[in-house]
Amino acid sequence: MDSTASAKLRAINHLFERQFITLSDHVLVAVGYGVSTFSFIAGDTGVIAVDSGSMPDESAAAIAALREHTDRPILALVYTHGHPDHTGGVAAFLDENPNIEIWGHARFGDEARRFARNGAAIARTRGVRQAGFRLPPEKRINNGIAPAVYPKAGALAQGPGGGPDPKGLPQKTFDGDTTISAGGVSIQVSHNPGETDDQIMTWFEPDRVVFTGDNMYRSWPNLYAIRGTQYRDVRDWCESIDRIRGMQADHLVLGHTVPVSGTIEVDEALDVYSRGLWHIYNETIAGMNAGKTPDELAHEVTLPADLADHPLLGEYYGNVSWSVRAIFSGILGWFDGNPSAMNPLHPADRAAKVAELAGGVEVLFARAEAALADGDAQWSAELCDMAIALDHRADDARLLKAEAIDRLAYDLVTATGRNYLHTCAQELRADVDGDSAAGT
Ligand SMILES: [Zn+2]
Repeated sequence: MDSTASAKLRAINHLFERQFITLSDHVLVAVGYGVSTFSFIAGDTGVIAVDSGSMPDESAAAIAALREHTDRPILALVYTHGHPDHTGGVAAFLDENPNIEIWGHARFGDEARRFARNGAAIARTRGVRQAGFRLPPEKRINNGIAPAVYPKAGALAQGPGGGPDPKGLPQKTFDGDTTISAGGVSIQVSHNPGETDDQIMTWFEPDRVVFTGDNMYRSWPNLYAIRGTQYRDVRDWCESIDRIRGMQADHLVLGHTVPVSGTIEVDEALDVYSRGLWHIYNETIAGMNAGKTPDELAHEVTLPADLADHPLLGEYYGNVSWSVRAIFSGILGWFDGNPSAMNPLHPADRAAKVAELAGGVEVLFARAEAALADGDAQWSAELCDMAIALDHRADDARLLKAEAIDRLAYDLVTATGRNYLHTCAQELRADVDGDSAAGT
């Protein structure tokens, strides 16, 4: 039976079902062709594309749909940012026009370069967990802002923030803002940092359309990605949303999910998004200044009821409590300010002391079982960690932890978190299988 969280996530599938939308006189939008939303602006003699989609086959299908509206060549492509779900379909555009002019911000691909420079290969493992690529389809409802697609074999090697095919990298970059003209279309592009430092806003004045990139979609935004990420400056993000609002657009094309249309609807959407982001940011800063720790703030800073219930701010993809932690650590770093936390015990030493308090590690293990049976899966998982740290019935503890974190996944709305939890449960079971196989 569906948990409440699973049902909530299932209820938004219509936001990214495949559709090719005629948004305005010149703008056509591809939703559900792969993972992200991308667009075409058709002029008298040519077309400018905004983003290339995530997968060449899917992008080729969108281009085929475009051909039912216009036979003009796609002369230029601008990336809203460097993430592979917006750049990975570029091969289809190069097939269409090998001489296509490709644009991006001067900082295009910064995030991927930073991971590579630091040799942070774990981000790839965590990225695959977050995306749910190793899960069977029945464990994936959707990705919160996208359908639950699987990459083709080999594509898994691509790390988070990885860029497109080298042939599809921007040949033209800009800092600040500029105008791009091709085929009788002119668009204004401007730096609008948020989800990434290379994020831009695209403005097509004749139809009053803003393309937001991944600074906005129909979910609480991913202010922190649990795959691991550098700080996504939340104050920048708030200001970027307000900059979008300042355009007073008639249409908002979001980086994922279906667009928002109508002057009133657009303004309301941006008002809600802006108020939600600023609220969490301001409350976290106030809590930090009151000397609170991230563990406290992650539980205490929440959205007011009207915003928490708003469909645009549902925690389908991003998660409010992770955002609070990200703001804290992004500004103050790892130390929570509590002197006891300056040099905490090694987890194995703490586990030994807690087990002693409990009356022995067997009692601790029994409590882990009881906690799960009582519906406290989080405490069960934490007790399992202690048993594993003490190497006490470690395989039993791993299997119990797998059960506990599967439970946590079913009760969480946020798809990225569900994927991460389910994948780790799968890994724990595989570890145990590996151990017993090695013993025979
Ligand atoms: Zn995206």
